[in-house]
Parts: sequence; structure tokens; C-alpha cells
Amino acid sequence: MWKKTKAFKHVSPLKQGFPLGWKNFRAFCNTAINATLSGVYSTEQEVVIALGSNVGNRIKNFNDALNLMKGSGIDITRHSCLYETAPAYVTDQPRFLNAAVRGVTKHAPHDLLTVLKTIEREMGRGNGIRYGPRPLDLDILFYGRLRISSDKLTVPHERIWERPFVLAPLVDLLGSAVDNDTVSHWHSLSIHPGGLFEAWERLSGESLIGKEGIRRVVPIGDKLWDFSEKPYVMGILNLTPDSFSDGGKFQSLDSAVSRVLSMATEGADIIDIGAQSTRPMASRISAQEELDRLIPVLEAVRVMPEMEGKLISVDTFSSEVASEAVKKGADIVNDVSAGALDPNMYKVVAESRVPYIAMHMRGDPCTMQDKENLKYDDVCRDVASELYARVRDAELSGIPAWRIMIDPGIGFSKKVDHNLDILMGLPKVREEIAKKSLAISHAPLMIGPSRKRFLGDICDRPVARDRDPATVASVTAGILRGANIIRVHNIRDNVDAARLCNAMLRRGRSS
Ligand code: ADP
Ligand code: MG
Repeated sequence: MWKKTKAFKHVSPLKQGFPLGWKNFRAFCNTAINATLSGVYSTEQEVVIALGSNVGNRIKNFNDALNLMKGSGIDITRHSCLYETAPAYVTDQPRFLNAAVRGVTKHAPHDLLTVLKTIEREMGRGNGIRYGPRPLDLDILFYGRLRISSDKLTVPHERIWERPFVLAPLVDLLGSAVDNDTVSHWHSLSIHPGGLFEAWERLSGESLIGKEGIRRVVPIGDKLWDFSEKPYVMGILNLTPDSFSDGGKFQSLDSAVSRVLSMATEGADIIDIGAQSTRPMASRISAQEELDRLIPVLEAVRVMPEMEGKLISVDTFSSEVASEAVKKGADIVNDVSAGALDPNMYKVVAESRVPYIAMHMRGDPCTMQDKENLKYDDVCRDVASELYARVRDAELSGIPAWRIMIDPGIGFSKKVDHNLDILMGLPKVREEIAKKSLAISHAPLMIGPSRKRFLGDICDRPVARDRDPATVASVTAGILRGANIIRVHNIRDNVDAARLCNAMLRRGRSS
């Protein structure tokens, strides 16, 4: 498993009979064990590391910690969700940010501890009180299947089982059935899934989340957003001459700004600005042309007083546009291709440190309605697994799971019935994703049925604007089945729908 030390390899204590007695035999064993617990292993080991922070800019501390870990020989493969938690043990201190990551490393256990402590110090951690405030805490929860008990290191970490802020991220990382199609999550770690779930359930499990003590959050800018608080309404601003519902209407700067003003005052939480049409068969424009349309509007909208506390997302599948838009103040990248149309997209989003909405689609806007892109065995399952595959690549490219949001892509390479199955089957989409990653299954889920063709087909409304009542019905169905963000044209009506759904869901939870 690892490079054996010379002593360990060539001297057999039992064969030698240890003439100098047990004391020496034990000393020998300790030397041998210590030799194996430090140094560099020849093969990589699976590790799980917990992160905590409650001093300074906690989000930045986590981002920097991930980069420092990557730069110190720890390859991160999976992320939990992010949690904001009430302090434990010493309660008179700021709230913590907690998460956990899985990774592989060649560092031996004690060297890994040294590496993590160096990172903690680099991030400004001094010798404060135990369990007291700290800019960064990095704990080794698991180190492969090893059990270690030395004066410096206990693995598995001693306090895993009593801490919701450790168990919640751990369940995100290890709670799903399989890692890939054949290998279980826990086969390479000294943990039994039953014990993990039992401990989590003992503390009340998922029902704890969203309460005062522990909230699942998404970092956007320097704030934390809890998408379980209420359904969020995203208003659409198309800067295109050819969008299917409102193409050409908001091309001038003035008309775009006044549209945003009315959407913001009507209660939109997020404004989604798109300068490239993604309607079926839309012709594609260059990144430069997209930027020329987008940037002046983005700059004007960013400084509107009515946008204070609200978010801007940029609807693009171009990494160049995404990168420039974030520099000019966009908070979120909304990519209908989930990275499939631009090989640099994940890298740019990872470096920009903004949330990423990954949508399911097959092909591109020109080919998405081709016959071969409309075949599904089971649309919820297929959408979940295809979307998950993209999100998985995004995560491996450095976008932490806690910055990913998902969109099943209503109206994109789907027939009428597929759209209906997805709307009715949102819980199934989440369940299917949960089989691969519990963390991603908890991602905020966005739907965008607004004014789409399937609504017109069913309600016999050939004109897009006439589909607003059907849109309200569709987002109502979606929110009641777990959608967290609705992307719509008509803000006023859909804000009402979102409020009503929220009130109903709260009643449902309390009864
Ligand atoms: P805690 O993480 O429990 O809040 P500290 O970060 O102050 O507390 O850690 C105290 C000591 O715990 C560290 O100096 C380290 O030597 C020891 N320790 C024991 N086991 C582990 C582990 N699995 N991961 C990290 N530190 C550990
Ligand atoms: Mg620690």
C-alpha cells in the first residue's frame, strides 16, 4: 500500500524473537508505525477533510483553503453542501461556515495534518482557545481505511458522531449509494454507511436543516443565500432581436433599464440578462457581439438603487462573455449548455467563484429539437443522469458543489409530454441525482417554463404573451414539487404564485 521503510521491510520482530524483551518490541512497533504514518505514500489515499470558519470573510477563507489544499498535494474530488451553523461548545462567538470535501493525497497521515495546520496558519489562525473563533479549521475526518490514535492525531476524528455541522456535510459526501457504477462510496474509507445514517438520524437528520442551528446556504458575492427560505423569482431580460417571446423589445439601453426597474419593483429577486437567443433554431452571434449588447446594460443595471440586495445573472454559454460579465458585476452564470458548448466554461466559472446554473439540454439550440435528441426511456431519470454527468465534470474542474444550481431544461430538447413529466417529476429528478451525489441533489433547482410552446400547445395559445396564465399554473406545480427558482417574463403574476406556494408549503410543513 505504501513504501515500506527499510526497517519495516527487512526486520521481522517475531522471527528475531526480540531477545531484549517486550519493551523493545513495543518500541520497535511504534517506530515502524510512525514510519508508515509519515512520509509520502506511493499510492494515493482517499481522505475526507472538514472545513470550518467563523472569523473574517468566511466564504473567501473557504475558497482560499480549497486552493491552498489543491496546491499542497490534495486533489479534491467532491464537495458537500455549505452550512451556516450556530457555534457549539463555546457559544458566545460568531456563526460558523462548515463543509467537508473528499480528495486523494499521497501525504501520509501526520504529514497531511502538518500540511493542513500550515494552511490554517497561513490563513491567520493563531493559538486561540479550543473550539473558539478561528478563520479556518481543517480536520481530518477519515484517512482511507486507517484507524489512527496518536497523541497528535485521531482518525476517524473523535467528535464526528455528535456534531450536526460535521455529519450534515459527511452525509452529503458519503450518503449516496455509489461513487460510480461499481464502487461504493465507503469501500475506501473506515466507515459503515449504517452507522453514519444512524448517527445523523439520532440528531434528527434532514429535518434539522433550515432551522436556526444549521442552514444550507449558497455563497453569492459576500452573502449567504438560503434557497429553502422562499421560492425566488428570476426575471428575464432579453437583449436579443429574435427571442421567441419578447425579441427586439429591450434592445435599447433605456428600454432595458426601464424593464429592469419594473421587474425589480414588482418583486423579482434576480434579473437574468441574456444577449444571445437560445430559442430553437436561433442563429448564433459572436462573443464580441454578445458582449457589445450585454455590458452597457449590465453596467447600468448594476448601479440601479432598485437592484440593491438583488442578484444579476448572465444567461450565456460563452466563457468569454461569462468572464467579462462577472468582472462587470454579474453574480451568477446561467448556462443553458451546462458547459457543453464551450470547453473553457468550467475553468472560467471556477476562477470567478460565482454560482453556476447548469441546465439540461441535448445538442445546441439548432439541433436540440432534432429527432434523436427527443428520445428518452424515462425522461426524469435520463435528464438527471445527463445533467449530473455535466455537473460532475464541473465539480472536478473546480466548481464546488455548493456553488452549483440545476435546471432540468423545460422546453430544451423535450416534447410536450417530457415537459409535463419533468414538471410533475421534479422530486424524481432530485432522487435520481441523489443516487450519485446527495450534495448535488440538494442544489437549488430552477425551472423555466415561462411562455413556452408546450403551454401554448395545451391551452391553444399560439401567441407567447397569451401564455401567462398557463405559466402561473406551471410554476405553481413546479414550486410545490420542489423548484427553488422560477425564471419568468411576467413578474407580478408569478411573484403572487410564488408567495402563495410558499404560504402553502409552510402550512404543509407545520401540520
Ligand atoms: P478542533 O478541530 O477539535 O476544534 P483544533 O483544531 O484546535 O480543535 O485541534 C486540536 C488538535 O487536535 C490539533 O492540534 C491536532 O493535533 C489534534 N487532532 C487530533 N485528531 C485530529 C484530526 N483527525 N484532524 C485534525 N486535528 C486532529
Ligand atoms: Mg481542528
